[in-house]
Amino acid sequence: MNETLLVQNIHSYYGKSHILFGVDFSVKKGETFCLMGRNGAGKTTTFKSIVMLVPPKEGKVIFNGKEINGLKPYHAARLGIGLVPEDRRIFGDLSVKDNLLLGTSSGRHGYWNLEQIYTYFPILLDYQDKQAGTMSGGEQQMLTIARTLMGNPEILLLDEPTEGLSPVMVKVLKDLVLKIKEMGTTILLSEQNIKFCMAVADRVVIIDKGHIVYEADAETFRQDDDVKKKYLAV
Ligand code: ATP
Repeated sequence: MNETLLVQNIHSYYGKSHILFGVDFSVKKGETFCLMGRNGAGKTTTFKSIVMLVPPKEGKVIFNGKEINGLKPYHAARLGIGLVPEDRRIFGDLSVKDNLLLGTSSGRHGYWNLEQIYTYFPILLDYQDKQAGTMSGGEQQMLTIARTLMGNPEILLLDEPTEGLSPVMVKVLKDLVLKIKEMGTTILLSEQNIKFCMAVADRVVIIDKGHIVYEADAETFRQDDDVKKKYLAV
């Protein structure tokens, strides 16, 4: 089976507000797939729907051939879906190391453990006993990604990871995403940063007002200035 994640015609709501209108796409094993869209287009809601934080009212989420609708968010993590939320949600009063150890609650074992994390993120080793809340925004973003990797996900969901980062940190993040991709991890990324998306993605979809309006391989998207203008306000 080639598809790791199938999102089939999902409709999601906050209370009575209908936010996603039949969102549909699939992510193949090992690829980096980018969901692009403006502020409020529905990217975060799509991610929350995949991990059942906002369970879709209609449609299916299928992971490794198994429908996961109705499961709890911690089940999604145990199955291997690792979400790095947009709002980072680090535990500011806890040490960096304790934040990392929380990532192991998925119960999954694999390549990533504290030793590997400290090799890839030396700054987290330097800061391991520091309160996580004292780190910069970019460092906290690295910690959130590292914490999710500690759960050894099969697919990594990165929700607008470049948001609020300095150009230097965006470059660090790009190299990190390329490294994780090289290791064979499937990645679903949401972004507004077109340059970042083009630097890492294999395929791109655009969401607009809760509808998927475009799908292409990264090379076609690169050359499609009209679509960028129309949906991404470039
Ligand atoms: P952003 O970059 O601003 O995070 P996004 O593409 O991730 O944008 P979503 O956060 O998914 O967009 O928001 C989609 C729509 O849902 C927006 O109109 C937003 O106002 C609305 N929305 C988001 N969260 C809630 C909530 N908890 N309750 C009600 N409406 C919400």
